[in-house]
Amino acid sequence: MRESDVVVVGGSAAGITAAITARRHYPDRQVLLIRKEEQVLIPCGIPYVFGTVGSPDKDLIPDAVLSKNGVELLIDEVTSLDRDKSTLTTAGGETVAYDRLVLATGSLPAMPPIPGFELENVFPVFKDVSHLRLMQESLEGVSDLVIIGGGFIGVEFADECRKALQANVSIVEMLAHCLMLAYDAEFCSKAEELLRQRGIAPVTGAKVERVMGQKSVEGVRLDNGETIPAQAVIVGIGATANVKLAESTGLPIGTTGGIVVDRTMRTTDRRVFACGDCAEKLSFFGGRPSALKLASIATAEARIAGANLYGTRRENIGTVGVWSTVIGDTAFATAGLTESVAERHGYNYVVGAAESINRHPGGMPGSHPMKVKLVFEKRTGVILGGQVMGDKAAGEVINAISACIQRRMTAEDIAMFQTGTHPALTASPIAYQFVNAAEAAIAAAQ
Ligand SMILES: Cc1cc2nc3c(=O)[nH]c(=O)nc-3n(C[C@H](O)[C@H](O)[C@H](O)COP(=O)(O)OP(=O)(O)OC[C@H]3O[C@@H](n4cnc5c(N)ncnc54)[C@H](O)[C@@H]3O)c2cc1C
Repeated sequence: MRESDVVVVGGSAAGITAAITARRHYPDRQVLLIRKEEQVLIPCGIPYVFGTVGSPDKDLIPDAVLSKNGVELLIDEVTSLDRDKSTLTTAGGETVAYDRLVLATGSLPAMPPIPGFELENVFPVFKDVSHLRLMQESLEGVSDLVIIGGGFIGVEFADECRKALQANVSIVEMLAHCLMLAYDAEFCSKAEELLRQRGIAPVTGAKVERVMGQKSVEGVRLDNGETIPAQAVIVGIGATANVKLAESTGLPIGTTGGIVVDRTMRTTDRRVFACGDCAEKLSFFGGRPSALKLASIATAEARIAGANLYGTRRENIGTVGVWSTVIGDTAFATAGLTESVAERHGYNYVVGAAESINRHPGGMPGSHPMKVKLVFEKRTGVILGGQVMGDKAAGEVINAISACIQRRMTAEDIAMFQTGTHPALTASPIAYQFVNAAEAAIAAAQ
C-alpha cells in the first residue's frame, strides 16, 4: 500500500494549488496528487484552442509546477474512498493511505435533457485534450455553428470559432441578453453589438427546444418556432459539481450540488477538505449559496484548504465573483453585484459611472475608451460591485475593484484613492475612471 501525509484528488486549478500550498505551509509533509488525465489543460484557455492558440497541446499546465514544488504525481482515477480506513483505491489497482485528503474533483459540463443532444457533432465542453482534438477536427469545414449559452464561455467560443472557421456562428441565449448574469443591460448591449460587428448572430430571449438531425446535427429548433441551420452545436450552459466520490462516501452535498465545507474548506470529516468547482460556495454578500464556478475561486479556496490541513490558518470570506472576458479588443470585467442583482436582492443602492480614454493625451498609442460603473450601498456608501468595459486593462482594474469590495471600502475611500498614472499606460489622473465613478455615486446619493 502506498502512503502519503496529504493526498489531493484532482489535478487542475484547485488540485495543483492545494498541493503546492500544502507543501509551502507544511514542508515536512509528503504531498501526493492523483489525477486521471495524462495532460492537464489550462481550463480558461480552452476557447482559445479553437482560434488564437490553435491546438490543445499549446494550452497545457506543465507538470514541472508539481515537481518543482516537491509534489508527487500519480496518474490514475480514484474509484473509491474509505474514510474509516483513510484509504483510496484507484482504477489502476493502487491503494493509497492518507492522513489528510483534499477533494478537488472539479466539475463536468451541464447537459440538460434537450432532445437531440445525443446526435453527432453536439459538443459539451469537457476539459480533456482528446475531446478537444475531436471537436477541432469535427468543426473543420462546418459552415453553420450554433452555440447554446451566451455566458462568457459561449461568447468566447463564438468569437474564436468565427475567426478560425469563417462559419456562420449563432449564439442562442434564453435570457434577454448575452452575458446577462455578469453585467447590466448597457454592457450586454455593447457586447452584442460587438459580436454582430464580428459576424456573430446573438439570438436572445429564445430557448433551444431540440437539436434536429438523423445521425448528425442538421439544425436547432427554438421555442419561438425559428430554426437555425447547423452542422455542429457547442453547449456552454454551465457546469455541475463532480461529487461522485464524495457522495459515495456519505459526505453531505449542498443546495447547489457541491460538497459541503465550512469556512476553512473542511468537510464534515475533519481530515477531508474540498475546494474548487466540486465544493459548495457561499456568497460574500449575505452568505447565500452561490453556484459560481471559476478558476479564480477554485485557486483561492485551494490556498485556504492547503494552508489549513494541520491547523486553521485561513478562512474563506465567501465568493465575490470576479471575472472578465474580451470580444475583439474590448474587454468586459465584473466583480461583486451588478446594479440589477443589487436591486433583485433588495439593496438600497446608488450607482456612479465614468468613462474616458485610457491614455493621456488621447492621441497616445493604444488609446481605447474605458468605462467603469460602481454600485454602492446607499446608507453606508460601502461598495457592492463594479463593472469595467473597454481597454484590456479592465482585467486588472476589476481586480483592484475586487480588493475594495473585499475590504468593504466606501465611495469616499475610493474617491480619495492615490492612483499611479502615466500617459502611455493609464487615463489621466483628472479623468481616472475608477475614482470618478465613486465621485459620481457620491453626487448621486446627495
Ligand atoms: C471553456 C471554459 C473557459 C473557462 N474560462 C474561465 C476564465 O476565463 N476564468 C475563470 O476564472 N474560470 C474559467 N473557467 C472555469 C474554470 O475552468 C473552473 O472553475 C476550474 O477549472 C475549476 O478548477 P477545479 O480544479 O476545481 O476543477 P476541474 O478543472 O474540473 O478539474 C478537476 C480535476 O479533477 C480530476 N478528477 C476528477 N475526478 C477524479 C477522480 N475520481 N480521480 C482522479 N482525478 C479526478 C480531473 O481529471 C481534473 O484534473 C472556464 C471553464 C471552461 C469550461
